[in-house]
Amino acid sequence: MKGFAMLGLNKVGWVEKECPVAGPLDAIVRPLAISPCTSDIHTVWEGAIGDRHNLILGHEGVGEVVEVGSLVKDFKPGDKVIIPAITPDWQAVASQRGFSQHSNGMLNGWKFSNSKDGLMAEFFHVNEADGNMALLPKEISPEEGTMLSDMVPTGFHGANNAEIEYGDTVAVIGIGPVGLMAVAGSNLRGAARILAVGSRPKCIEVAKFYGATDIVNYKDGDIVEQIKDLVGGEGVDKVIIAGGNVDTFEQAIKIIRPGGIISNINYLGTGDYIKIPRVGWGLGMGHIRVIGGLMPGGRKNMEYLARLIKYGKLDVKPLLTHRFKGFEHTEEALLLMKDKPRDLIKPVVTV
Ligand code: NDP
Ligand code: ZN
Repeated sequence: MKGFAMLGLNKVGWVEKECPVAGPLDAIVRPLAISPCTSDIHTVWEGAIGDRHNLILGHEGVGEVVEVGSLVKDFKPGDKVIIPAITPDWQAVASQRGFSQHSNGMLNGWKFSNSKDGLMAEFFHVNEADGNMALLPKEISPEEGTMLSDMVPTGFHGANNAEIEYGDTVAVIGIGPVGLMAVAGSNLRGAARILAVGSRPKCIEVAKFYGATDIVNYKDGDIVEQIKDLVGGEGVDKVIIAGGNVDTFEQAIKIIRPGGIISNINYLGTGDYIKIPRVGWGLGMGHIRVIGGLMPGGRKNMEYLARLIKYGKLDVKPLLTHRFKGFEHTEEALLLMKDKPRDLIKPVVTV
């Protein structure tokens, strides 16, 4: 079969591979729609997880089941399914603790385009199919469904970890597709004021659509000053970090109130340490919590998030700014994610 792969650091291209084989609990799926991710860019062009050779990329998609293992109960060939970016080992102790993302090792729930071939292929393999796939509701198109693999669950995970409450003032730093879903998730959880930090005009327009009340452009000066001017007083209740770099934590600490929560969902591709300013952190006693999380995978999460789209509570269409028809456009779509033109939020390829 053909697949689009990371050939090595800074190099991508088409490869030929053997078709994957399903174990008793697994499934083989062919993609119907796929979307490249900024994480693929960190992986290939920043070497964030080290070198990989001929590793097929992609972890966001909707597909059609081709084959299931003998012990798979709830899916059959022909089913249209949403595939989560994170496909944990559900029997692992870490999963029983509630951290399936780290089943059998730190970040090990993240398999596609990390420890095994991803979705940018004619066929791909899904481990523990009953636990890691969800039927695509007929009201949701495969293109829209791709946003349930990673963008919606990651943004909403950011809002959940920030424990957004009714009336909160929230700063969302970074409003690419992930940050936009953090804005949407915060809005649904009842935040009153949402300050969205970004610069691309398209992202700003869509941030307002999802509930941002204030826009802060980090290219117009220090965001700490800008946010303090806007909210005054003690600072914001919560910060969700969905963009920036290791220095962004310093800014987050400087804008949050005592007892606030900083929730990171950004993939830190470069830098060795994160800076936490001593004074801003209340000399270490400010009750400011910092949490960073990989999105939860699995079937239940996708089924519940899909209901939000199905029943009209969440519209992911504004995220899909660039649409391609045909598998051969995979490279073009991935490179768009690397170059980030001003009008881009997410590209999607219908296979
Ligand atoms: P984008 O690159 O599309 O968005 C990044 C955002 O951050 C943009 O709004 C950008 O602004 C803004 N930004 C860039 N630099 C700064 C800065 N110095 N200060 C403030 N804001 C800044 O990325 P995505 O939305 O696709 O992804 C966001 C992150 O989430 C990525 O690192 C990705 O790998 C990660 N991720 C994490 C997952 C998880 O499970 N935790 C899963 C999936 C993705 P501008 O408008 O100028 O572009
Ligand atoms: Zn991703």
